[in-house]
Parts: sequence; C-alpha cells; structure tokens
Amino acid sequence: MSTENIELLRDGLKGYNINVDDSMLEKFEKYREILVEYNKVMNLTGITEQREVYIKHFLDSVAIFNNGYIEDEMSVIDVGTGAGFPGLPFKIVNPSIQLTLLDSLNKRIKFLKEVGDSIGFDDIEYVHGRAEDFGKNKEFREKFDIATARAVANLPVLLELCVPYVKLGGYFICLKGPNVENELEKSENAMKLLGVELVESIDVELPDEELNHKILVFEKTAKTPKRFPRKAGTPAKEPL
Ligand code: SAM
Repeated sequence: MSTENIELLRDGLKGYNINVDDSMLEKFEKYREILVEYNKVMNLTGITEQREVYIKHFLDSVAIFNNGYIEDEMSVIDVGTGAGFPGLPFKIVNPSIQLTLLDSLNKRIKFLKEVGDSIGFDDIEYVHGRAEDFGKNKEFREKFDIATARAVANLPVLLELCVPYVKLGGYFICLKGPNVENELEKSENAMKLLGVELVESIDVELPDEELNHKILVFEKTAKTPKRFPRKAGTPAKEPL
C-alpha cells in the first residue's frame, strides 16, 4: 500500500472540507481491496490501480461534500449504484446518512453487502431491482432527501429514474462528464414534467488535470405526477 496514495486521498478529502481520520482512510482502502478481489470474478470496474480508484471512484464520488447539500442523517438513495458509486463513499465520509443502494443486478448488490458488512456498516439498505419499479413503490416514492446517480443513463432518462424518489424540497445530485450542456438542453421537458429545477452546475476539481467532471444539482419543486416513472424500459426507449 503506497503512503503517497493514502496522502493523496487524505488531501483530496480535506480539499472538499471533509474531516478525515485514519479509520475513514482504512475503510476506503478495505473497500478497494474487496473491489479488486471481486473484480477478478465479476465485472465491477475497469479501474483497480490504487491511485486511480482513489481519484476516479472515491474522490470523484464525494466531491459534492464541498457544496453543503448533504447534511447529517439525511436519507440518500443511489440509483444504479453498480460497485457502490457514489453512495458508499458518501456513507464512509458521513456515516450518519441513511443510505439506500439500488441496482438491477443482484450480484452487484451481493458484493455491496459484503463491502458494507466488512467495513462495519449495519444500517445500509440494499435493494435489488429496477429504478422504474421502486420509484412507484410507496415506501420509496418521494421519501428521500437526496437521490444521486453516476454513469447510469442520459439525463432525460436519468431524471425519470431518479426524481420520483426525491421529497419536495430535496435534491437530485447527478455526477456527469464534461459535456452536459447538450444533455441539459434535451432535458427541459423532463424537468418540467417531473417537477425539478436545476439549481447548480458544479465543476469538479480532481487531482488529475485531464478529468473534467460536472455535478448537476436539481431541486424538487413540485410533486412528480403518478404516471412517472413509466414502466421499466420505457424511459430509455422513449425519453421524455
Ligand atoms: N454508478 C456506478 C458508477 O458510477 O460506477 C455504476 C455505473 S454502471 C455503468 C450502471 C449501473 O446502473 C449498472 O450497475 C446497472 O446494473 C445499473 N442500472 C442501469 N439501469 C438501471 C435501472 N433501470 N434500474 C436499476 N439499475 C440500473
């Protein structure tokens, strides 16, 4: 384990105003070790080298903590979490959040449970299923302070998958690559129909010049009509 990389992670987290301690860094490293181990037998990520995991998965996931949207004890759902990004790093930097991780692939959910148990979290909710189905379930619909997603779908589709989970006054926090302008233009209709407004577009600063990521923050300003989300598969086939 390279001390240089550990220090890079520590400094990166501090740079986002996160109170770092050694146990937080140990949790991140344990998470990476299990990720690399499971990645030998299942497809979780193309990124396994320590420095890359720290920058492109961990620091990228938690950059939003610099901007004050995620407060103690908030309920957060990560839709299409895959190998746990960004939701599980959120929980590592703020264990008080009530985290739900949702993915349609059960083997990824099993992997996440293994990581969560290994790093000592016994209060994460793991959900195997389609975002479209749980978005209609009354135990999930409009029950979360924050919904988040990274690398799941184009914005108009993603809005329909995620916004139904968010309470009135809550936020959908979406992690994107650099070219969001085009996606945003195509999302005007979806935003209006689903009841959200864009409140902030944040440039992410990562310790690697080539990466140019954006975080889009949408506030839920009206209830989402019951007809959304449409049935599984329809949002991607016929984006709003
Ligand atoms: N968010 C993770 C990340 O940034 O590394 C994973 C990204 S991966 C490219 C997309 C994930 O979304 C996959 O794990 C896939 O199973 C999940 N997914 C795609 N569509 C979904 C849906 N409609 N409902 C639930 N999960 C979905």
